[in-house]
Amino acid sequence: MGSYFADISFREGVILANLNLTLEKQQQAAVELLGREPRTPFTVRTFCPDGSPQVLIADPVFKEDGIWKPFPAFLWLVCPRLKALTADLEQHGQVRAFSQRLKSDEDFRNLFIAGQKTIAELRVSMAEKIYPGELPDHIREILTSTTVAGSRDFNGVKCLHSHLAQELAFHNNPIGAAVLEQIKNCSANDHCGTLAARRSEA
Ligand SMILES: [Zn+2]
Repeated sequence: MGSYFADISFREGVILANLNLTLEKQQQAAVELLGREPRTPFTVRTFCPDGSPQVLIADPVFKEDGIWKPFPAFLWLVCPRLKALTADLEQHGQVRAFSQRLKSDEDFRNLFIAGQKTIAELRVSMAEKIYPGELPDHIREILTSTTVAGSRDFNGVKCLHSHLAQELAFHNNPIGAAVLEQIKNCSANDHCGTLAARRSEA
């Protein structure tokens, strides 16, 4: 929890004051990796060894034209290497395989549920800090009862990228941990940021 509150002031420092050139550069690099302007403010949560953004943490709720928009899938994997390797695993049927494991392996499921509970609490406390005293009950309910992949079904894995992002950011997602064991975290030799720049030039 301690590090998360530090993150929030960090983000507000960037958005409100916009004084820190390094943070500004991080944000620019992250937007380049995303390939679009995000709809919500975010911070870079983890970096690849080459210094490029790896996982972003976005506001879990925002208001657009006065309407509340919950955003339970608030962790974004942006490293091009990890994204591509994770997509390969999805292509090879691992979304279904992990869904089956959640049903058949009780220890794995309990670990997974505990991690999702932590994430749910984190989303609500972030939202309350961003909009003190304003958070409507139905938004709180969505932020509480949805997985990191944005699914209401806790056996529904849906997308491996968000589970990996959670594991990298908070080390509490066994699906993400199993993905990482297969594809390995990035090393300095991977040049993840350069890889992205090369792709956008092509
Ligand atoms: Zn990377």
